[in-house]
Amino acid sequence: MAEISFWGGVGVIGSSKILIEQDGWRILLDCGLDFSPGAGLFRSHVAPRPGHILQDRLRIGGAPWLPHLYRPEAVAGLDLPGGSDGQTAVFVTHAHIDHIGLTGWVDPGVPIYCSIDTKRVMEALTAAGDGVEGGEPALIGLADGESVTFGPFRVTRYPVDHDVIGASGYAVETQDGVVGFTGDIRLHGRHPEKSLAFAQAIHGARAFVIEGTTLSFGFKSAQSTEVAVDEQFTRILATTPGLVLMSLYPRNVERVESFLAIARSAGRTILWPPKMAAFFTHLGIPDVAVWDESRLDAVRSHPEHYVVQMAVAEIPVLLDLPVGPGAVFVHANGEPLGVFDPDYEVLQDWLKFTHTPWWGIGTSGHASPDDLNRLVETVAPDILFPLHSQEPDRLIPPPGTVRWLPQRGGRRFALSGR
Ligand SMILES: [Zn+2]
Repeated sequence: MAEISFWGGVGVIGSSKILIEQDGWRILLDCGLDFSPGAGLFRSHVAPRPGHILQDRLRIGGAPWLPHLYRPEAVAGLDLPGGSDGQTAVFVTHAHIDHIGLTGWVDPGVPIYCSIDTKRVMEALTAAGDGVEGGEPALIGLADGESVTFGPFRVTRYPVDHDVIGASGYAVETQDGVVGFTGDIRLHGRHPEKSLAFAQAIHGARAFVIEGTTLSFGFKSAQSTEVAVDEQFTRILATTPGLVLMSLYPRNVERVESFLAIARSAGRTILWPPKMAAFFTHLGIPDVAVWDESRLDAVRSHPEHYVVQMAVAEIPVLLDLPVGPGAVFVHANGEPLGVFDPDYEVLQDWLKFTHTPWWGIGTSGHASPDDLNRLVETVAPDILFPLHSQEPDRLIPPPGTVRWLPQRGGRRFALSGR
């Protein structure tokens, strides 16, 4: 009998962790870390204690209490067996912290699969000093459509579209049928055909676990496309006489490459913080220019030739930059990510103080409610599990599908049952 249980992403956006068990074998889909700057016991300046990081996370419920997943020394002192039992494997959907952030603690005997691009992104982040906590995980890259047989399971990886390269959906074949998991997914990005092809490939699945980010916050409207974001950025560069400041999320590598090309055509150089520049260079992006104070004179004398990517921590540099009404700050899904982050208000206060206008031009990595319905209707599963959402009960199943709301931590749903 195959069973499924949920160890994160229940009632919250992020931290997806789905366990599928059969005959003592276990597949963990995603192994994320809660990322919520404005919430949780570890926030602001309060962090897990050095030397006890995973133990502290486990004891407050911030990591799944699962045996034979973590390195023995990372769970020392807890009543939780560490080290691989040879029957556990992890499959990661994409390179966002809330899906991959705990893999640095996974025992080396537990294989961790992901896409080849996810492996590339994580290796470039590690090389740039921005890897996951606990150590560099040994990731195994899978090609599009590649399958892995693990004990009684057969797991196939499919490419899907999200706001990071290498995003994947998985199909896990169990004795009670196929379990499909979207990871994070959308239909308004650059590759909607990938997301739809995944949904078609798992048509008739026994169970379908779908993210439901946009079912939160009473969200209803359609999402703008990545192409529309490019057009807005193009227009801003053409109409801003002075300096353009920007906050772009670096892991959206396709948007980074697109913005680099747009800036180049507009005669502007984008200056990136050193860590981001190192990440892009390790990924093989050419001609990445670094922002540091040695650039101040050049930016001051020719602000119209530059775009500066800002980190909130260095925002006082606005006092030395040619900002004000002729400049603009472009928020394109970078940090601070949203109003839930206390830094968001700090940044806005500084921009108000310097009379610098703010433009938000991003789009979400997550499918709109209508597109979520379209994906569910395409898959037409027996059982629907909406996950990674504050209001999963807003996803109404089509006729022929029953919806089960995931419960956190250990409640096992038998996939054979009704
Ligand atoms: Zn994501």
